Amino acid sequence: MKTFLARQRQDGFFAIRFKSSAGQFTAAQLLAIHELSETFGKGVINLTSRQELSIPFVRQEDFDAIKEFSTAHGLEISPIGTIFKQVTSCQGTQSCPAGIINSPSIARELDRRHGGRELPNKITCSVTGCPNNCMKVDANDIGIKGAVEPQFIVANCIYCGACARVCPVGAIAVDRKEKVWTIDRLKCINCGRCVKACRKSALRGEVGYKIYFAGNDFLPMIRDEQTLYKIVDAAVKYFAEHAKTRERLSKMLARLGVEDFKEQLQ
Ligand code: SF4
Ligand code: SF4
Ligand code: SF4
Repeated sequence: MKTFLARQRQDGFFAIRFKSSAGQFTAAQLLAIHELSETFGKGVINLTSRQELSIPFVRQEDFDAIKEFSTAHGLEISPIGTIFKQVTSCQGTQSCPAGIINSPSIARELDRRHGGRELPNKITCSVTGCPNNCMKVDANDIGIKGAVEPQFIVANCIYCGACARVCPVGAIAVDRKEKVWTIDRLKCINCGRCVKACRKSALRGEVGYKIYFAGNDFLPMIRDEQTLYKIVDAAVKYFAEHAKTRERLSKMLARLGVEDFKEQLQ
């Protein structure tokens, strides 16, 4: 059974957490949380690592009243324990100039599919809009990162070298004299800077997603959103069926190896 009150070290006190929507609360929700904290807590609100807000120092006997008030004000109380945790997200293309993907929209969909699901141990999941990786997705059990794969259009290239100069990892080499353009796909981190730098439309950026499991990106770039969701669904199912009680995803992969896991994701 799901629980919603996190025991504190102080006897008789609990913390209660509220879900954000991919890292966002409305101003009205914040006012409601403020009121709950003043009424049932000690006027303090904490930020959690999962982009929730938490009110400490509430009492168990107040839970029903808190729940009723929360529901009436559009707040959702986060369950605690060994569950699929709230998906965290940066703003991606919703407002960040570097954004490649709409991170909040993807985070909400993943939350809708899996958020709060009870599992052998918790799963943390995060979505970050570009290779700047503000959400540190490789430090989560499941991480999704916006990615761009440059495609070269030879007929448009003037071999100016602008793409090579902006590449942060030196993946592109341009030989102006010999008119040769090459890319090292293994070096490329899919940031898309070369595509932006090319003024001759000689590089087309294909947008996609890199997915990380316990920090490992063993799958090629995913090209469409529905495939991404299917892969996450399969990974969560595999974890639910194969992980031992209290075993994290990284430990399960170390115990079973990645090959069977990878196969089930395709
Ligand atoms: S990861 Fe990229 S898109 Fe997301 S906030 Fe950072 S810079 Fe912006
Ligand atoms: S910036 Fe564009 S035109 Fe210049 S070398 Fe690169 S691909 Fe070719
Ligand atoms: S996408 Fe980024 S890392 Fe890849 S070649 Fe272009 S600039 Fe370099």
